[in-house]
Amino acid sequence: MGSLSTHWSIPVMTPFLIRSRHRLQALLPPEMEGRELRALLTLSDHSLLLSSRRARLIINRVRLFAFLFAVLTPLWCVVDFLVFDAPLWYYLAGLRLLASACFAVLLWHPPRDRMRDAYRVIAWLFAIPTLFYIASHSVLASYELNDFSQAVATGYAFLPFVLMAGLAVFPLTMLESLLVASSVLGAQLLAGYFSWSTLNWPSFLGGTWLLVLLAGVVVLAGMSQLAFMLVLVRQMIHDPLTGAYARGSGEEIMEVYWRRSLRQDEPLTLVFLDLDHFKTINDRYGHDAGDQVLSQFAHRVRGAVREQDVLVRWGGEEFVLLLPMTPHAVAVEVLRRVQAGGFGERPDGQPLTASMGLAERCQDGSETLAALLERADQRMYQAKNAGRNRLCGASGDC
Ligand code: GH3
Ligand code: MG
Ligand code: MG
Repeated sequence: MGSLSTHWSIPVMTPFLIRSRHRLQALLPPEMEGRELRALLTLSDHSLLLSSRRARLIINRVRLFAFLFAVLTPLWCVVDFLVFDAPLWYYLAGLRLLASACFAVLLWHPPRDRMRDAYRVIAWLFAIPTLFYIASHSVLASYELNDFSQAVATGYAFLPFVLMAGLAVFPLTMLESLLVASSVLGAQLLAGYFSWSTLNWPSFLGGTWLLVLLAGVVVLAGMSQLAFMLVLVRQMIHDPLTGAYARGSGEEIMEVYWRRSLRQDEPLTLVFLDLDHFKTINDRYGHDAGDQVLSQFAHRVRGAVREQDVLVRWGGEEFVLLLPMTPHAVAVEVLRRVQAGGFGERPDGQPLTASMGLAERCQDGSETLAALLERADQRMYQAKNAGRNRLCGASGDC
Protein backbone atom coordinates (compact mmCIF):
# COMPACT_ATOMS: atom_id res chain seq x y z
CA MET A 1 0.00 0.00 0.00
CA GLY A 2 2.91 2.29 0.85
CA SER A 3 4.39 1.80 -2.61
CA LEU A 4 0.99 2.48 -4.26
CA SER A 5 0.61 5.85 -2.57
CA THR A 6 4.25 6.65 -3.38
CA HIS A 7 3.59 5.83 -7.07
CA TRP A 8 0.94 8.40 -7.63
CA SER A 9 2.08 10.91 -5.04
CA ILE A 10 5.60 11.42 -6.42
CA PRO A 11 4.55 13.03 -9.75
CA VAL A 12 2.08 15.23 -7.87
CA MET A 13 4.46 16.09 -5.06
CA THR A 14 7.64 16.61 -7.07
CA PRO A 15 6.74 19.95 -8.74
CA PHE A 16 5.40 21.16 -5.40
CA LEU A 17 8.58 20.16 -3.56
CA ILE A 18 10.78 21.67 -6.25
CA ARG A 19 8.81 24.92 -6.17
CA SER A 20 8.98 25.03 -2.34
CA ARG A 21 12.72 24.39 -2.47
CA HIS A 22 13.22 27.23 -4.95
CA ARG A 23 11.14 29.56 -2.78
CA LEU A 24 13.19 28.66 0.28
CA GLN A 25 16.45 29.04 -1.62
CA ALA A 26 15.42 32.55 -2.66
CA LEU A 27 15.59 33.47 1.03
CA LEU A 28 19.23 32.39 1.19
CA PRO A 29 22.32 34.18 -0.10
CA PRO A 30 23.45 32.78 -3.50
CA GLU A 31 27.01 32.39 -2.13
CA MET A 32 25.78 29.78 0.35
CA GLU A 33 27.35 26.35 -0.10
CA GLY A 34 25.26 23.18 0.06
CA ARG A 35 27.19 21.79 3.02
CA GLU A 36 26.34 24.92 5.03
CA LEU A 37 22.60 24.20 4.94
CA ARG A 38 22.84 21.87 7.93
CA ALA A 39 24.20 24.73 10.02
CA LEU A 40 20.85 26.51 9.55
CA LEU A 41 18.97 23.72 11.25
CA THR A 42 21.06 22.87 14.31
CA LEU A 43 24.36 23.82 15.89
CA SER A 44 26.30 21.16 13.98
CA ASP A 45 29.00 22.63 11.72
CA HIS A 46 29.12 26.00 13.48
CA SER A 47 32.73 27.11 13.46
CA LEU A 48 34.37 28.65 16.50
CA LEU A 49 34.46 32.11 14.93
CA LEU A 50 30.86 31.94 13.69
CA SER A 51 29.75 31.08 17.23
CA SER A 52 31.74 33.90 18.82
CA ARG A 53 30.48 36.51 16.34
CA ARG A 54 26.92 35.23 16.61
CA ALA A 55 27.10 35.34 20.40
CA ARG A 56 28.32 38.96 20.35
CA LEU A 57 25.63 40.01 17.87
CA ILE A 58 22.86 38.31 19.87
CA ILE A 59 24.02 39.85 23.16
CA ASN A 60 24.20 43.32 21.59
CA ARG A 61 20.71 43.00 20.14
CA VAL A 62 19.36 41.70 23.44
CA ARG A 63 20.84 44.78 25.13
CA LEU A 64 19.20 47.07 22.58
CA PHE A 65 15.83 45.42 23.18
CA ALA A 66 16.34 45.46 26.93
CA PHE A 67 17.00 49.21 26.76
CA LEU A 68 13.83 49.84 24.74
CA PHE A 69 11.70 47.67 27.03
CA ALA A 70 13.23 49.13 30.20
CA VAL A 71 12.23 52.63 29.06
CA LEU A 72 8.87 51.88 27.39
CA THR A 73 7.37 49.44 29.91
CA PRO A 74 6.96 51.94 32.81
CA LEU A 75 5.71 54.70 30.46
CA TRP A 76 2.45 52.81 29.92
CA CYS A 77 1.71 53.25 33.65
CA VAL A 78 0.25 56.69 32.73
CA VAL A 79 -2.37 55.05 30.49
CA ASP A 80 -3.13 52.41 33.13
CA PHE A 81 -3.54 55.19 35.73
CA LEU A 82 -6.11 56.99 33.57
CA VAL A 83 -8.04 53.85 32.69
CA PHE A 84 -8.00 51.49 35.67
CA ASP A 85 -9.09 52.06 39.26
CA ALA A 86 -7.04 51.33 42.35
CA PRO A 87 -5.93 48.75 43.43
CA LEU A 88 -5.72 47.25 39.89
CA TRP A 89 -3.59 50.20 38.78
CA TYR A 90 -1.13 49.65 41.67
CA TYR A 91 -0.70 45.99 40.80
CA LEU A 92 -0.08 46.73 37.13
CA ALA A 93 2.34 49.58 37.93
CA GLY A 94 4.21 47.29 40.35
CA LEU A 95 4.51 44.60 37.68
CA ARG A 96 5.70 47.16 35.12
CA LEU A 97 8.36 48.59 37.42
CA LEU A 98 9.55 45.11 38.31
CA ALA A 99 9.79 44.13 34.62
CA SER A 100 11.59 47.38 33.81
CA ALA A 101 14.14 46.77 36.60
CA CYS A 102 14.78 43.24 35.26
CA PHE A 103 15.33 44.62 31.74
CA ALA A 104 17.76 47.19 33.16
CA VAL A 105 19.81 44.37 34.74
CA LEU A 106 20.16 42.77 31.29
CA LEU A 107 21.58 46.04 29.97
CA TRP A 108 24.72 45.60 32.06
CA HIS A 109 25.57 42.22 30.63
CA PRO A 110 29.07 42.44 29.13
CA PRO A 111 29.39 41.59 25.41
CA ARG A 112 30.94 38.12 25.66
CA ASP A 113 31.61 35.77 22.78
CA ARG A 114 30.31 32.48 24.11
CA MET A 115 26.96 31.14 22.88
CA ARG A 116 26.23 30.00 26.44
CA ASP A 117 26.05 33.69 27.49
CA ALA A 118 23.93 34.54 24.43
CA TYR A 119 21.43 31.80 25.34
CA ARG A 120 21.23 33.05 28.90
CA VAL A 121 20.45 36.66 27.95
CA ILE A 122 18.00 35.72 25.23
CA ALA A 123 16.21 33.42 27.69
CA TRP A 124 15.94 36.32 30.16
CA LEU A 125 14.81 38.76 27.47
CA PHE A 126 11.90 36.48 26.64
CA ALA A 127 11.21 35.24 30.16
CA ILE A 128 10.70 38.75 31.65
CA PRO A 129 7.83 39.88 29.37
CA THR A 130 6.41 36.35 29.30
CA LEU A 131 6.11 36.29 33.09
CA PHE A 132 4.81 39.87 33.01
CA TYR A 133 2.21 38.81 30.45
CA ILE A 134 1.02 35.82 32.46
CA ALA A 135 0.91 37.85 35.71
CA SER A 136 -0.87 40.89 34.20
CA HIS A 137 -3.32 38.65 32.37
CA SER A 138 -4.25 36.87 35.61
CA VAL A 139 -4.60 40.18 37.50
CA LEU A 140 -6.81 41.72 34.79
CA ALA A 141 -8.95 38.58 34.56
CA SER A 142 -9.87 38.88 38.24
CA TYR A 143 -11.39 42.39 37.92
CA GLU A 144 -14.67 43.60 36.50
CA LEU A 145 -13.88 46.08 33.75
CA ASN A 146 -16.08 48.56 31.90
CA ASP A 147 -16.07 48.68 28.08
CA PHE A 148 -13.33 51.28 27.81
CA SER A 149 -10.95 49.70 30.32
CA GLN A 150 -11.71 46.31 28.78
CA ALA A 151 -10.51 47.70 25.41
CA VAL A 152 -7.22 48.86 26.99
CA ALA A 153 -6.85 45.56 28.82
CA THR A 154 -7.11 43.80 25.45
CA GLY A 155 -3.88 45.60 24.52
CA TYR A 156 -2.09 43.41 27.07
CA ALA A 157 -2.99 40.40 24.92
CA PHE A 158 -0.74 41.77 22.15
CA LEU A 159 2.42 41.17 24.15
CA PRO A 160 3.05 37.61 22.86
CA PHE A 161 2.80 38.97 19.29
CA VAL A 162 5.38 41.65 20.03
CA LEU A 163 7.65 38.99 21.56
CA MET A 164 7.21 36.60 18.68
CA ALA A 165 7.91 39.32 16.10
CA GLY A 166 10.97 40.45 18.10
CA LEU A 167 12.46 36.97 17.72
CA ALA A 168 12.92 37.70 14.00
CA VAL A 169 15.88 40.03 14.63
CA PHE A 170 18.11 37.22 15.92
CA PRO A 171 20.25 35.01 13.65
CA LEU A 172 19.09 31.66 15.05
CA THR A 173 19.00 28.08 13.83
CA MET A 174 15.64 26.46 13.18
CA LEU A 175 15.91 24.48 16.39
CA GLU A 176 16.78 27.54 18.51
CA SER A 177 13.94 29.65 17.04
CA LEU A 178 11.47 26.80 17.52
CA LEU A 179 12.45 26.49 21.18
CA VAL A 180 11.93 30.20 21.90
CA ALA A 181 8.77 30.40 19.77
CA SER A 182 7.24 27.43 21.58
CA SER A 183 7.92 29.08 24.94
CA VAL A 184 5.98 32.18 23.76
CA LEU A 185 3.16 29.91 22.55
CA GLY A 186 3.30 28.11 25.88
CA ALA A 187 2.85 31.44 27.68
CA GLN A 188 -0.20 32.23 25.54
CA LEU A 189 -1.74 28.86 26.45
CA LEU A 190 -0.85 29.30 30.12
CA ALA A 191 -2.46 32.77 30.22
CA GLY A 192 -5.58 31.26 28.61
CA TYR A 193 -5.60 28.51 31.23
CA PHE A 194 -5.37 31.03 34.11
CA SER A 195 -8.32 33.05 32.79
CA TRP A 196 -10.27 29.94 31.75
CA SER A 197 -13.63 31.01 33.23
CA THR A 198 -13.75 34.45 31.55
CA LEU A 199 -11.95 33.49 28.35
CA ASN A 200 -13.26 34.85 25.07
CA TRP A 201 -12.78 31.62 23.15
CA PRO A 202 -13.09 32.79 19.51
CA SER A 203 -10.61 35.62 20.03
CA PHE A 204 -8.24 33.37 22.05
CA LEU A 205 -8.22 30.64 19.38
CA GLY A 206 -7.82 33.19 16.58
CA GLY A 207 -4.92 34.83 18.45
CA THR A 208 -3.22 31.51 19.11
CA TRP A 209 -3.49 30.49 15.45
CA LEU A 210 -2.04 33.85 14.40
CA LEU A 211 0.85 33.27 16.80
CA VAL A 212 1.54 29.88 15.21
CA LEU A 213 1.64 31.49 11.74
CA LEU A 214 3.89 34.24 13.03
CA ALA A 215 6.18 31.61 14.56
CA GLY A 216 6.60 30.02 11.12
CA VAL A 217 7.58 33.34 9.54
CA VAL A 218 9.92 34.16 12.39
CA VAL A 219 11.72 30.80 12.16
CA LEU A 220 12.36 31.45 8.46
CA ALA A 221 13.51 35.03 9.17
CA GLY A 222 16.00 33.82 11.82
CA MET A 223 17.39 31.13 9.49
CA SER A 224 17.69 33.62 6.65
CA GLN A 225 19.65 36.02 8.89
CA LEU A 226 21.88 33.18 10.03
CA ALA A 227 22.49 32.18 6.38
CA PHE A 228 23.73 35.68 5.50
CA MET A 229 25.87 35.71 8.61
CA LEU A 230 27.36 32.30 7.79
CA VAL A 231 28.41 33.46 4.32
CA LEU A 232 29.77 36.81 5.52
CA VAL A 233 31.77 35.23 8.33
CA ARG A 234 33.16 32.54 6.00
CA GLN A 235 34.23 35.15 3.43
CA MET A 236 35.68 37.40 6.10
CA ILE A 237 37.73 34.82 7.95
CA HIS A 238 39.26 33.00 4.99
CA ASP A 239 41.97 34.08 2.60
CA PRO A 240 40.26 33.90 -0.83
CA LEU A 241 43.34 32.67 -2.72
CA THR A 242 44.33 29.70 -0.57
CA GLY A 243 41.19 28.97 1.46
CA ALA A 244 43.36 29.03 4.62
CA TYR A 245 42.32 31.27 7.53
CA ALA A 246 43.23 34.93 7.08
CA ARG A 247 45.74 36.26 9.59
CA GLY A 248 43.28 38.22 11.77
CA SER A 249 40.85 35.35 12.23
CA GLY A 250 43.77 32.91 12.57
CA GLU A 251 45.11 34.93 15.51
CA GLU A 252 41.66 34.93 17.08
CA ILE A 253 41.42 31.12 16.78
CA MET A 254 44.94 30.72 18.17
CA GLU A 255 44.02 32.82 21.21
CA VAL A 256 41.01 30.56 21.87
CA TYR A 257 43.10 27.37 21.58
CA TRP A 258 45.90 28.89 23.65
CA ARG A 259 43.51 29.68 26.52
CA ARG A 260 41.99 26.20 26.26
CA SER A 261 45.41 24.59 26.27
CA LEU A 262 46.33 26.50 29.46
CA ARG A 263 43.00 25.77 31.15
CA GLN A 264 43.06 22.06 30.45
CA ASP A 265 46.84 21.70 30.48
CA GLU A 266 46.85 20.21 27.00
CA PRO A 267 49.74 20.31 24.54
CA LEU A 268 49.54 22.84 21.70
CA THR A 269 51.86 22.88 18.70
CA LEU A 270 52.53 25.75 16.29
CA VAL A 271 54.41 25.38 13.02
CA PHE A 272 55.76 28.20 10.87
CA LEU A 273 56.01 27.22 7.20
CA ASP A 274 57.77 29.31 4.55
CA LEU A 275 57.96 28.23 0.91
CA ASP A 276 61.48 27.86 -0.43
CA HIS A 277 62.67 30.08 -3.29
CA PHE A 278 59.15 31.17 -4.01
CA LYS A 279 60.18 34.49 -5.48
CA THR A 280 61.86 32.77 -8.41
CA ILE A 281 58.49 31.25 -9.41
CA ASN A 282 56.99 34.73 -9.66
CA ASP A 283 60.06 36.07 -11.44
CA ARG A 284 60.25 33.30 -14.02
CA TYR A 285 56.64 32.24 -14.57
CA GLY A 286 54.61 35.24 -13.45
CA HIS A 287 52.40 36.12 -10.51
CA ASP A 288 49.51 33.89 -11.63
CA ALA A 289 51.74 30.81 -11.62
CA GLY A 290 52.89 31.85 -8.11
CA ASP A 291 49.27 32.16 -6.99
CA GLN A 292 48.50 28.70 -8.28
CA VAL A 293 51.44 27.21 -6.39
CA LEU A 294 50.32 28.94 -3.19
CA SER A 295 46.79 27.62 -3.51
CA GLN A 296 48.05 24.11 -4.27
CA PHE A 297 50.35 24.21 -1.23
CA ALA A 298 47.51 25.18 1.13
CA HIS A 299 45.26 22.52 -0.38
CA ARG A 300 47.90 19.82 0.13
CA VAL A 301 48.61 20.78 3.75
CA ARG A 302 44.93 20.98 4.71
CA GLY A 303 44.26 17.68 3.02
CA ALA A 304 47.00 15.98 5.01
CA VAL A 305 46.10 17.15 8.54
CA ARG A 306 43.10 16.64 10.81
CA GLU A 307 39.84 18.59 10.49
CA GLN A 308 40.50 20.48 13.74
CA ASP A 309 44.03 21.57 12.72
CA VAL A 310 44.09 25.19 11.60
CA LEU A 311 46.10 26.52 8.66
CA VAL A 312 46.58 30.30 8.65
CA ARG A 313 48.05 32.37 5.82
CA TRP A 314 50.35 34.53 7.89
CA GLY A 315 51.40 36.71 4.95
CA GLY A 316 52.75 36.27 1.42
CA GLU A 317 54.16 32.74 1.21
CA GLU A 318 54.32 32.16 4.97
CA PHE A 319 51.80 30.00 6.80
CA VAL A 320 51.18 28.98 10.40
CA LEU A 321 49.76 25.58 11.19
CA LEU A 322 48.10 25.14 14.59
CA LEU A 323 47.85 21.59 15.91
CA PRO A 324 45.64 21.57 19.03
CA MET A 325 46.10 18.79 21.61
CA THR A 326 49.19 17.54 19.79
CA PRO A 327 52.42 16.86 21.70
CA HIS A 328 55.78 17.72 20.14
CA ALA A 329 56.72 14.17 19.07
CA VAL A 330 53.34 13.52 17.42
CA ALA A 331 53.49 16.89 15.61
CA VAL A 332 56.92 16.00 14.22
CA GLU A 333 55.49 12.73 12.88
CA VAL A 334 52.52 14.53 11.34
CA LEU A 335 54.78 17.04 9.58
CA ARG A 336 57.11 14.36 8.30
CA ARG A 337 54.05 12.69 6.79
CA VAL A 338 52.88 15.98 5.24
CA GLN A 339 56.38 16.58 3.88
CA ALA A 340 56.58 13.05 2.45
CA GLY A 341 53.23 13.55 0.69
CA GLY A 342 54.69 16.66 -0.96
CA PHE A 343 53.58 20.28 -1.15
CA GLY A 344 52.90 20.14 -4.88
CA GLU A 345 55.04 21.08 -7.84
CA ARG A 346 56.78 24.20 -9.08
CA PRO A 347 55.86 25.24 -12.64
CA ASP A 348 59.08 23.61 -13.93
CA GLY A 349 58.00 20.23 -12.52
CA GLN A 350 60.41 20.30 -9.59
CA PRO A 351 58.89 19.48 -6.17
CA LEU A 352 57.84 22.50 -4.13
CA THR A 353 59.56 22.55 -0.74
CA ALA A 354 59.09 24.47 2.50
CA SER A 355 61.16 25.27 5.58
CA MET A 356 59.35 24.61 8.83
CA GLY A 357 59.86 25.65 12.46
CA LEU A 358 57.95 23.85 15.19
CA ALA A 359 57.29 24.85 18.80
CA GLU A 360 55.11 23.21 21.44
CA ARG A 361 53.76 24.98 24.55
CA CYS A 362 54.69 22.35 27.19
CA GLN A 363 57.97 21.21 25.66
CA ASP A 364 59.21 24.78 25.12
CA GLY A 365 57.78 26.12 28.38
CA SER A 366 56.35 29.16 26.54
CA GLU A 367 54.48 31.52 28.83
CA THR A 368 52.61 33.43 26.14
CA LEU A 369 51.25 32.75 22.69
CA ALA A 370 53.54 35.44 21.25
CA ALA A 371 56.57 33.65 22.78
CA LEU A 372 55.49 30.34 21.25
CA LEU A 373 55.05 31.98 17.83
CA GLU A 374 58.43 33.67 18.14
CA ARG A 375 60.06 30.31 18.94
CA ALA A 376 58.48 28.62 15.90
CA ASP A 377 59.53 31.57 13.69
CA GLN A 378 63.15 31.36 14.92
CA ARG A 379 63.22 27.63 14.15
CA MET A 380 61.87 28.26 10.66
CA TYR A 381 64.83 30.60 10.04
CA GLN A 382 67.10 27.92 11.48
CA ALA A 383 65.67 25.52 8.87
CA LYS A 384 66.34 28.10 6.12
CA ASN A 385 69.92 28.57 7.28
CA ALA A 386 70.49 24.82 7.52
CA GLY A 387 69.73 24.46 3.79
CA ARG A 388 65.90 24.75 3.48
CA ASN A 389 63.41 21.89 2.83
CA ARG A 390 63.49 20.72 6.42
CA LEU A 391 61.81 20.83 9.80
CA CYS A 392 63.42 22.25 12.94
CA GLY A 393 61.90 21.40 16.30
CA ALA A 394 62.77 21.59 19.99
CA SER A 395 65.37 18.80 19.82
CA GLY A 396 67.65 21.13 17.80
CA ASP A 397 68.39 18.70 14.97
CA CYS A 398 67.16 19.93 11.61
P1 GH3 B 1 63.24 31.84 0.78
O1 GH3 B 1 63.54 30.45 0.32
O2 GH3 B 1 64.41 32.45 1.50
O3 GH3 B 1 62.01 31.89 1.62
O4 GH3 B 1 63.01 32.73 -0.50
P2 GH3 B 1 61.65 33.22 -1.10
O5 GH3 B 1 61.92 33.60 -2.52
O6 GH3 B 1 60.59 32.21 -0.87
O7 GH3 B 1 61.29 34.41 -0.15
P3 GH3 B 1 61.12 35.94 -0.36
O8 GH3 B 1 60.65 36.46 0.96
O9 GH3 B 1 62.35 36.56 -0.97
O10 GH3 B 1 59.95 36.07 -1.41
C1 GH3 B 1 58.63 35.89 -1.12
C2 GH3 B 1 57.84 36.30 -2.35
O11 GH3 B 1 56.48 35.95 -2.24
C3 GH3 B 1 57.87 37.79 -2.60
C4 GH3 B 1 56.47 38.15 -3.00
O12 GH3 B 1 56.42 38.81 -4.21
C5 GH3 B 1 55.78 36.81 -3.13
N1 GH3 B 1 54.38 36.87 -2.76
C6 GH3 B 1 53.83 37.31 -1.61
N2 GH3 B 1 52.50 37.20 -1.64
C7 GH3 B 1 52.17 36.65 -2.86
C8 GH3 B 1 50.95 36.30 -3.49
O13 GH3 B 1 49.83 36.44 -2.95
N3 GH3 B 1 51.02 35.78 -4.75
C9 GH3 B 1 52.22 35.60 -5.38
N4 GH3 B 1 52.21 35.08 -6.60
N5 GH3 B 1 53.37 35.95 -4.81
C10 GH3 B 1 53.37 36.46 -3.58
MG1 MG C 1 60.03 31.85 1.19
MG1 MG D 1 58.94 34.52 3.44
